[in-house]
Amino acid sequence: MTSRPPIPAQTAVLDVAIVGAGFGGMCMAIKLLEAGNRNFLIVEKGSEVGGTWRDNSYPGAACDVQSHLYSFSFEGKADWSKRYAPWYEIQDYILKTKEKYGLAAFTKFDTEVTGAHFDHETGIWTVNTNTGATVQARHVVLASGPLHVPQVPKIKGMEKFKGKVFHSAQWDHSYDLTGKNVVSIGTGGSAIQYCPEIAPQVKQLYVFQRTPAWVIPRDERTYFGIEKALFEKFPIIRKLHRARLYWSNESRVWPAFRPQNARAVSQLVKLFIRFQVKDKALAEKLTPDYTFGCKRVLISNKYYPMFNRKNVELVTDGIQEVRENSIVTRDGIERPCDCIILGTGFIVDPRIYMKDFPCTGLPGHELNKDWKDGAESYYGMTTTGYPNLFQLVGPNSALGHNSIIFMIEAQVHYIQECMRLMKEKGVDYMDVKASAQRRFNEDVQENIKGTVWATGCVSWYQQEDGKNFTIWPWSTWKYWLETRKVKEGDYLFTKCQKPALKAVAKAKAEA
Ligand SMILES: Cc1cc2nc3c(=O)[nH]c(=O)nc-3n(C[C@H](O)[C@H](O)[C@H](O)COP(=O)(O)OP(=O)(O)OC[C@H]3O[C@@H](n4cnc5c(N)ncnc54)[C@H](O)[C@@H]3O)c2cc1C
Repeated sequence: MTSRPPIPAQTAVLDVAIVGAGFGGMCMAIKLLEAGNRNFLIVEKGSEVGGTWRDNSYPGAACDVQSHLYSFSFEGKADWSKRYAPWYEIQDYILKTKEKYGLAAFTKFDTEVTGAHFDHETGIWTVNTNTGATVQARHVVLASGPLHVPQVPKIKGMEKFKGKVFHSAQWDHSYDLTGKNVVSIGTGGSAIQYCPEIAPQVKQLYVFQRTPAWVIPRDERTYFGIEKALFEKFPIIRKLHRARLYWSNESRVWPAFRPQNARAVSQLVKLFIRFQVKDKALAEKLTPDYTFGCKRVLISNKYYPMFNRKNVELVTDGIQEVRENSIVTRDGIERPCDCIILGTGFIVDPRIYMKDFPCTGLPGHELNKDWKDGAESYYGMTTTGYPNLFQLVGPNSALGHNSIIFMIEAQVHYIQECMRLMKEKGVDYMDVKASAQRRFNEDVQENIKGTVWATGCVSWYQQEDGKNFTIWPWSTWKYWLETRKVKEGDYLFTKCQKPALKAVAKAKAEA
């Protein structure tokens, strides 16, 4: 690894400040470099790049999207070991990409962005950090990730517990689970991956389930040496393979968004559950009663068979309290417990995880207030009242069926188009019109009405009033197509009264 050169004190206004160095922030940075722009800085609160894949190192952590697709289109890797790579292989890919593009030199690590403020007179954003340092930039790209703040449930008596507690995203690898009584809370994407891995090691595993997940088989396989060699020698074969994976994901899953199709699929999955779980009553407890696809569909070949083990118990009664060395359910049963693993997912509602992140835009605009009834933006990227503030994987641009990296690349392209357009027009900033944002959101919500996501389940895709603020409810190619060009009529373009030079002079004077 190359050493990190110190970041010089900022003496001028940056062109772009990027918040976060996961796939999103890195993609933005690489594309800026490719366009010849070196006047940017990534601010990352962690000590390394990688985001999700730096943090989630629990046993069995792996991607649910095929690796040849869950990687940058411009940075192919011929030697992925398996169809779905484990976390460490993805993180290794991310670290190599960081090295290749020299991103460490553009990144300020261990620094959390705590707020951002726009000056409409100069057209400059001031980004605050927890170190007290500020960064001034013409454009800000929020690449802070949709799933990175652990959701920690409040459970009565937790403070009295004498054993070990950790969240799946903060796995304590120094803690030996061998021979322990372990409680795992939650049955989402992470828990269904780590539970089967730890079950053979622990004395007893209690899997606490509030709502069962639909879990379908994982079409896992290892790539043969000959395939890897062909992918290396003939990149076109690797690209065709990637394209095939993309279109098969689109074609298989998109029709399943329709409830009538989803119901047919769920009959097959019920058979799969029954086939994998020997005990009929247990299989029934593991079978969801909501429409297939309403919550994120999970993939695993190990999850259901794990319940055939003698040392694994599915617990469906709610938790009443935690005691010093045990956990008690509402039916009064007390189970001994040495370790509690919170597989409880992440805070996804930006209104909650950004509540201590003041962000002010044009006069009268404060993000927490503007989003008080729900996070809304235009194509998940621009928000009215916040000129030159761009978001990656923002509201209604996450996916349930394909690679988010495809969306990130489309978004980075769009942001660069916006920057190019502003330069071409000789303006300082652009702000999406409220009417365009409203129209976009009405379209999204209208389309969601006919899909599986509107069939009545409670999921992390929705806020408490049921509004889905997460999912892009169409094909990803539609998103790609619609974000190729900026619809100029949807934006207001402004040239500042006070030239930006004033801001530069001010920044220099303060440095
Ligand atoms: C366990 C798990 C499994 C997943 N599996 C899949 C999958 O199979 N397929 C899929 O498509 N997606 C999956 N995801 C979603 C995943 O988050 C995205 O695929 C992808 O990693 C998003 O990249 P990102 O850069 O937007 O966000 P992240 O990877 O979350 O990166 C965001 C970065 O921003 C930093 N940051 C956040 N706030 C601040 C701040 N205020 N100041 C400074 N830095 C900040 C974080 O430290 C982090 O490094 C999974 C997520 C998790 C948690």
